[in-house]
This record gives sequence, C-alpha cells and structure tokens, in this order.
Amino acid sequence: MSLLPVALYGDKILRKKVTKVKEIDVETIKLITDMFETMHNAYGIGLAANQVGADKTIFLVDISEMEGEEDKKPMVIINPKIINRSDETIIMEEGCLSIPEVRGDVLRPKSITLEYQDTDFKKHKIKADGLLARVMQHEYDHLQGILFTDLVADDLKKKLKKPLNNIKRRKVEFEYPTSTSVDYQLI
Ligand code: ZN
Repeated sequence: MSLLPVALYGDKILRKKVTKVKEIDVETIKLITDMFETMHNAYGIGLAANQVGADKTIFLVDISEMEGEEDKKPMVIINPKIINRSDETIIMEEGCLSIPEVRGDVLRPKSITLEYQDTDFKKHKIKADGLLARVMQHEYDHLQGILFTDLVADDLKKKLKKPLNNIKRRKVEFEYPTSTSVDYQLI
C-alpha cells in the first residue's frame, strides 16, 4: 500500500470528467487500496479517483468515524449514476482534501438514489440520506469535474478567491502528500 499525492485546487485533473471503468483489474484494486490509505491518512470521509490523478469513475466513502454513523460501512463506488434527487434540499458545510482549510455552506438535495457497481462489478442501488447523501454528491461531482467551491453562494465565492489562489500557488502548508504540478497526471 502507498499514499498517493492529492491533487489540489487548480490541478487540471480535478476539472476533467473521468472515464468509465470497464473492468476491475489488478491495477484498479491497487488504486482502490491506495485511495483508502490516502483518504484515511488525511482524515477524509470521501475521495474521488481524479483527486489522486486517476482517470477512473470511482469514489470512496467512509463516514464510519463520524458521530452517529458508526454503522455505515466504508464503500467503494464504481461507475455511479444519481438516478433520483429529493425535492427537499438542505444546507451543510463542506470541505475537501483538494481544497485544504477551506470550508463553505452548500445547498444540495437532502437525499438521493444512487446506482453503482462494486469491486465485483455487481450492480447496486442505494437510497442515501443525511451525511452519506452529502458525501456521495460531493464525490459524484468530483467525477464530473465539479468542486464544492463552484456551488457556494456568490458572496462566499468572492471571499474564497484569495485562499483558493493560495492553494493554487502552493502557498499553504499541507498535512498530507499533495501534487506538485497543475499538470499532475498519475494514470
Ligand atoms: Zn472533495
């Protein structure tokens, strides 16, 4: 297992719509294992493949360390599709391993229905609510090249310009391995 450098705000890979996974080979399993280690090392609760430079439609969710969520098992989500979004929306504060130290309120549907495949390529459908639905939507967006800072209110967007530029220019301290170039491409 190894820690993978996390792509940072400004890295082109974060703006790329990633490619569908067609087969689960040894490399894909290694990527998933390394992604789990990378996410846990950074105390993250979700991680998308393009955040570690991989052009694959995969994300991880593990909210089991969060209060009241201990029963939620870590999940590997491959080729996800959100097939339903609740009309009811909710504001929750979000952060992102690719945008360290920055947080912001984001309005999103309260619950979703997600179709995905697991590491055996078996299809599943899950209805998620609360924090799980929140993390899944955040990670799903990553795979489409969307970041949570794109979705915050206009006044916050203005306030975030400077901290985001600082991340782009690597003018901040990082507590986990990060990419060193905006052209970061791992796979
Ligand atoms: Zn994120």
